[in-house]
Amino acid sequence: MKYISTRGQIEPIEFSQAVMMGLATDGGLLLPDSLPSVDEDVLAAWQELEYQDLAFEVMSIFAGDVPREVLKDLITRSYAAFDTPEVTPLVSAGDYLILELFHGPTLAFKDVALQFLGNFFSWLLEQKNEYMNILGATSGDTGSAAIYGVKGKRNINIFILHPHGRVSRVQALQMTTVPDKNVFNIAVKGTFDDCQAIVKAIFNDLDFKAEYRLGAINSINWARVLAQVVYYVFAALKLKGQGADRVHFSVPTGNFGDIFAGFVAKRLIDPVIGRLILATNENNILTRFVMEGIYERGRVVSTISPSMDIQIASNFERYLYYLYGEDPSRVAEAMKEFEKSGSLRFSPEEKEIARKDFISTSIDQEETVATIAGLYQESGYVIDPHTAVGVAACRKLKEQLEDGPVVCLATAHPCKFPEAVAEATGKEPKLPEKMKGIQDMPQRLKVLPASTAEVKRFVEENALK
Ligand SMILES: *Cc1c(COP(=O)(O)O)cnc(C)c1O
Repeated sequence: MKYISTRGQIEPIEFSQAVMMGLATDGGLLLPDSLPSVDEDVLAAWQELEYQDLAFEVMSIFAGDVPREVLKDLITRSYAAFDTPEVTPLVSAGDYLILELFHGPTLAFKDVALQFLGNFFSWLLEQKNEYMNILGATSGDTGSAAIYGVKGKRNINIFILHPHGRVSRVQALQMTTVPDKNVFNIAVKGTFDDCQAIVKAIFNDLDFKAEYRLGAINSINWARVLAQVVYYVFAALKLKGQGADRVHFSVPTGNFGDIFAGFVAKRLIDPVIGRLILATNENNILTRFVMEGIYERGRVVSTISPSMDIQIASNFERYLYYLYGEDPSRVAEAMKEFEKSGSLRFSPEEKEIARKDFISTSIDQEETVATIAGLYQESGYVIDPHTAVGVAACRKLKEQLEDGPVVCLATAHPCKFPEAVAEATGKEPKLPEKMKGIQDMPQRLKVLPASTAEVKRFVEENALK
């Protein structure tokens, strides 16, 4: 399997090159040259596998240029960092099925991808006797998960931009208390979209990118999408083993990374996965896309689910490629149009195609809090506000789906968002053992204005050279 760009202007490349490249050099996003799907026999065999073994089977389809023993070892090491052998346990709470994705070192689902990506980068660089500087933007969880993926690695420095004062206290502490010398936190006076725009601008300066050997670790990296495909397959096959013909997922969505992984999984194990509920908070650009066929940028609203406070969903272009019949020139044209006008409109036929994959609703903060409270009273189970957006969307849309269970993705541990959880349940969520003492640790961060030039200067001064 080779990788191509959504905008069609690069020669096909191998998996390892795609992971190193991050953003395609033509400004597009990297994708497999065709989406694979497996047959019944493979599904039956996969149904029996533990998480790591399933991860190996799924990922080896997409990572053909990585030696098998290496891939196996990287997967084993990445998921050994999780606090349960199941990696992503499926539990029930009240009327809901919850896939707990928060058992990694930073207590959010992004660890599933970033533990793997950190180990993969480090292995690849070692092979080539090279180094890199990772640059990424975070609305909270990506940053800490990325930092934990590479902290202490010899050949990597990491620079993470976060919107100053707009991530939760626990999230900020997780990033800024890491003592390793290869970790640099940049607090930007602006929104997450500002951070993302700065990172994009720096990556588009190809000379700068080459000189400092910049690599991406944010949600546009293909390896992240790939690692996330695994838990959809894992949960769907587990339920298939219990007699479900079709399984749906409810996905709290911001950058469209996680739900795009669901789309790839849906193709891979077709027809086991039914539909994907695209759950948004008040930042509902993607809900308007699914329900009205309009993709239109709005203003970012700050909510109690900050990792979803996003208006420009960086992975959306990947889905656009399929929606436009795998025609890269149409994608390139549309992205140019979107940059200019801030909106895209879709035909009734395109809307219909999208509605076969997705159904969507947007959940406001009041309903989010009520959902946390309701599930807690009903079952004693505590969810975080992002997970609650997905659970609320599941409750609202369940009737409109074909038969089959709905799995709600739990994307963060409730202790990462103590204020919202306390408001809903009357109690602060308990800190797990590995987080105790974090408040008292020294912090390291650099506050900068939302300026590409200033961020560039800081990177220049501190990069591995
Ligand atoms: C990142 C994040 C999301 C959104 O995931 P996307 O891949 O950006 O759609 C949802 N919940 C939590 C807790 C997150 O950290």
